[in-house]
Amino acid sequence: MKRTISLLGSTGSIGRQTLEVVRQLKLPVAALAARNNVDLLERQAREFHPELAVLYEMDAALELARRLSDLPVRVAYGMEGLLEAAAMDAADTVVVAVVGMVGLRPTLAAVGKGKRVALANKETLVCGGELVMERARRCGAEIVPMDSEHSAIFQCLQGCADRGEVSRLWLTCSGGPFYGRSFSELEHVKREEALRHPNWTMGAKITVDCATLMNKGLEVLEAMRLFDLPLEQVSVVIHRQSMIHSLVQFRDGALLAQMGTADMRLPIRYALTYPRRAQAEEPALDLLRCPALTFAPPDLKAFPCLSLAMEAARTGGTACTVLNGANEAAVGCFLAGEIGFNDIPRRVERALNSIEVKWNPDLTDILEADQHARRVGQGM
Ligand code: MG
Repeated sequence: MKRTISLLGSTGSIGRQTLEVVRQLKLPVAALAARNNVDLLERQAREFHPELAVLYEMDAALELARRLSDLPVRVAYGMEGLLEAAAMDAADTVVVAVVGMVGLRPTLAAVGKGKRVALANKETLVCGGELVMERARRCGAEIVPMDSEHSAIFQCLQGCADRGEVSRLWLTCSGGPFYGRSFSELEHVKREEALRHPNWTMGAKITVDCATLMNKGLEVLEAMRLFDLPLEQVSVVIHRQSMIHSLVQFRDGALLAQMGTADMRLPIRYALTYPRRAQAEEPALDLLRCPALTFAPPDLKAFPCLSLAMEAARTGGTACTVLNGANEAAVGCFLAGEIGFNDIPRRVERALNSIEVKWNPDLTDILEADQHARRVGQGM
């Protein structure tokens, strides 16, 4: 079955790689959406001919509409535009590859329409995981992860009909550029150093999250929601080579791993073709050229963001939203050169300690907790 795609976040790193896969598989595109990159969205619209093109920022959308006036493409803007792209009848598969909380409402909209949601946006599951998964069950929507670790687990779980047979999920973690350093050694690291990831090429925010290990913390929360398992059954292991993308341990002792090169096109392709597998263009991992594979426990003292995420998981309610919102804002401040590297966990901790937790949150509670946490993350 050829899926028709609506792609939210088409100009970012995952979005551009998704379009490479879409081009290779010759999938029809119903909608493309991005924040404000007029030039790239115009080029993408001319190549993929969506019926809807969305730019979140209104001025950028007006400029795009002017430039695309020779094409039969409708241009929309803002959250309304994103929601329309997420729920439109023409698409059966919605790829959510936007960065941050802005992905939550469109994901809920797509899930509500019973679509397949190929999810690359962590914040959606971290903050609104219970809402999204509950609505997906009710509306018969499939959520297929695009995050490499969760895709690996999803692949290892194929054929497993009883979640009770799973004893543990192992999320692998490269350790990031600062592996082996102590907390005090990290105090004065520079933005440029944090942006140098050893194995993967990604956007700036997620690359900093990989350096603090907050990315792995968010992935633990994401895995708990996606696979409906408690914190006690989700573990992190440092695996510097990024060749095993994650593992599932079963109660009979079997440990299944998914291996491959560090290339996002594999999990992207699988999310678009699942349960089938399509021919890849990029070369597969060559086992005979593999370095030795190593495994080590994470250093929670040097990288407190990971333990803060686990603390938020234990607390539950809006704590995960607070963790995520404070982190997103603090990383923004770090990227702007306003605060040091270790101030990121300090601000997240302050937000977790100062903001009251709400239990069984609805969408309004989540959005409020997010706004509040952002202010603390910004140092206000
Ligand atoms: Mg990942």
